[in-house]
Amino acid sequence: MARAIAVFVLLGLAALLAAWLADHPGDVAIDWQGWRIETSVAVAAIVLALMAFGLAAGYRFWLWLRRAPASITRARAAGRERRGYDALAEGLVAVAAGDVGEARRLAQRTEVLLGSPPLALLLSAQSAQLSGDEVATEHHFKAMLEKPETEFLGLRGLLVQASRQGDRQAALKYARRAHALKPQSPWLLDTLFSLQAEAGLWGEAEATLTAAQRQQTLDPALARRRRAVTLLGQAQDSERQGQARQAAKLAASAHDAAPDLVPAALMTARLAAAAGQARKASKTLERTWRETPHPELAATWLALWPGDDAARRLRRFRRLEEAQPEHRECRLALADLQVAARRFDQARQELDPLIAAAESQNALPETRICRLMASLEEAENGQSEIVRDWLVKIETAPPEATWGCHGCGRPVAEWTPNCSHCGAFDSLHWAPLGAHRVPTDAPPGSHRSFPAESGVAAPLTPAAPARPAPGGASERQQDKIDAGSPAE
Ligand SMILES: [Zn+2]
Repeated sequence: MARAIAVFVLLGLAALLAAWLADHPGDVAIDWQGWRIETSVAVAAIVLALMAFGLAAGYRFWLWLRRAPASITRARAAGRERRGYDALAEGLVAVAAGDVGEARRLAQRTEVLLGSPPLALLLSAQSAQLSGDEVATEHHFKAMLEKPETEFLGLRGLLVQASRQGDRQAALKYARRAHALKPQSPWLLDTLFSLQAEAGLWGEAEATLTAAQRQQTLDPALARRRRAVTLLGQAQDSERQGQARQAAKLAASAHDAAPDLVPAALMTARLAAAAGQARKASKTLERTWRETPHPELAATWLALWPGDDAARRLRRFRRLEEAQPEHRECRLALADLQVAARRFDQARQELDPLIAAAESQNALPETRICRLMASLEEAENGQSEIVRDWLVKIETAPPEATWGCHGCGRPVAEWTPNCSHCGAFDSLHWAPLGAHRVPTDAPPGSHRSFPAESGVAAPLTPAAPARPAPGGASERQQDKIDAGSPAE
């Protein structure tokens, strides 16, 4: 617009000048070296203007010639960069699609065209990872540590690689370094917590858990559960070191954090009873029984009164029965006490519906019921064919519940914060033998999915699809046993 106005103004001025020259005619004569030029003022003015225009055009052409080589180089570099970024984008797509050959070819092309900008390093690392070249992958991720802008991405890649290889020590080292760079990253806090807990570094794990809670990225129920298991781990360590009072305090905190955590209640009660605090022990066990009835809770509770005879124990158990009258665990514990107190008819009344329920599904009642029936028959009628029948049934009856790992699927003799087979944190639950998750082909401890694997910078090696547990517990049961409660 401004340019158009300027052109109009200039044309106006030229017209005014032409009009003025027409009004004031005159001649111009030039004598030079024997040449003589005579013309009117108007023609001389036009010739002068044309000469000025020619000079300006010549100057511009000279400038263009002088700058041409630099412009051509710049244009070629820009084209190269554009092709480089195109290759980078296509390479990342190839990685996402799992196309090994294409990803590697494009990674090389990107490096040739772009050198090694941050994203090209990432593409190289991911394409190496995709082709299963662990050495090259590690090399590329380590190269990323050299640049501040890619250090975190490199650490993330190395962390996931170390975890996949089952090298928890290396994984913990990378996680700590990454945490120092980005202390608020939610997935990192989660991963760091798991690694610290699996290493039994309870103090560090608790601090990480606190940081995660402060970020409000952790589900409050999960945070409470993790804190309880972490505290219980510390309590077990303290007890091993002979610090009984410290152990009792930590176990009680674990019980308060998660009243449904059976092992926390058992340890709190055991240490309280040993310190002469029978009342605290019974209250602790009753509180957890109300949430999740469990055979060990009932047995430990009844053992608080060692002088009781069978009849007294049966009367005392009413207190637990009132808290969970319908629960299968309660009925079974009651039947056991009734057999001991020789109340055979009452015991049968408890067991018959459970046996009928199993038979209606064409199954044997579980081992525990068969054993109870054998004791009942023997106590009532002495050795008989019926007793032998029940003892034979035990061989093929569905197994009793036990502690087992939902990571590696193996049963364990007693509960620990980390699985004694695969080292997974808080993976033990109470379920019938065989209903713990069956182990996958993955190496020990690798069942835990790393949050890092869901991010954009995560290695995109196609992971084995999550497999449901063959013949395993149903989802609902899994949820329940995950909370440390006995399977119903
Ligand atoms: Zn395990």
